[in-house]
Amino acid sequence: MTTTTVRRLLQHASRSLKEASDTPWLDACVLLAHAGGLSYEQLLASFPDTVTPAVHETFAALLEHRRRGVPVAYLLGFKEFYGLEFTVNRSVLIPRPDSELVVEIAVQLLEEFPRSPHSPRSLRVHDCCTGSGCIAIAIAHEHPQADVSASDNSEAALEVARENAARLVAGRLRLYHSDLLSAVPGRFELITANPPYLTEAEIEQLASGEPRAALLGGPDGLEPYRRLIPEAVDKISMNGYLVIEGGHDQHHEIGALMTTAGFTSITHHRDLGGNLRVTVGSMER
Ligand code: GLN
Repeated sequence: MTTTTVRRLLQHASRSLKEASDTPWLDACVLLAHAGGLSYEQLLASFPDTVTPAVHETFAALLEHRRRGVPVAYLLGFKEFYGLEFTVNRSVLIPRPDSELVVEIAVQLLEEFPRSPHSPRSLRVHDCCTGSGCIAIAIAHEHPQADVSASDNSEAALEVARENAARLVAGRLRLYHSDLLSAVPGRFELITANPPYLTEAEIEQLASGEPRAALLGGPDGLEPYRRLIPEAVDKISMNGYLVIEGGHDQHHEIGALMTTAGFTSITHHRDLGGNLRVTVGSMER
């Protein structure tokens, strides 16, 4: 196969993905690299003249799945988040760049956390609804002194989080099987959460094949917050923080729920796309 043929192969593939993807050319390149056992960067650096029939066949199968709407991350089996590579499968939500804002804020709050003789030795962090573990693991990775735990109500998701933790922050993440915070012991200086917050209609539009339990937040998307925010009150230590992700149009309600529960110093934060994404509250006592 000549260079033009590979280029043509990609052009053809890219055209065939136009309906299914907003980034057809990128998807085609990433999937061809994966089929050939290369990283995307390696593919670009050594643009191959030829592809073997076996690679071609694997590529064709991947393309077919992608055309049917399977996200690239599920086809590759991993997704990058906060500079780390997370294993993903159909049991977990695919980490979103938007959620990196939760990590950024959490890390900054931990760095600035007032230390006094009464402060515990290491700051305790818990990530609720952890899925692949991406938020908890990124925080543990960025803040090596933090004592980090995470929970999810799905055993299958916890298995993925366990594998990611073992590879990325070995021995540093405790995991709990828990409906929100109900089975999570202890108190924390900081709790993070990216709960399911979409409505049925939004999930239908998303059509990503991700687990409904990781996406559906009840009729208005806010049900998990109505339970999580009051539960967090007793789990947050003196002057600790709750850092939660939500849909762009939900932060007014999330802030109100926090105020009702007794949180103060509530702030809202925008993601790189300019959408409101994260609300932070403090439990001052
Ligand atoms: N951020 C995801 C989306 O909009 C939803 C994630 C969630 O429900 N927690 O696709």
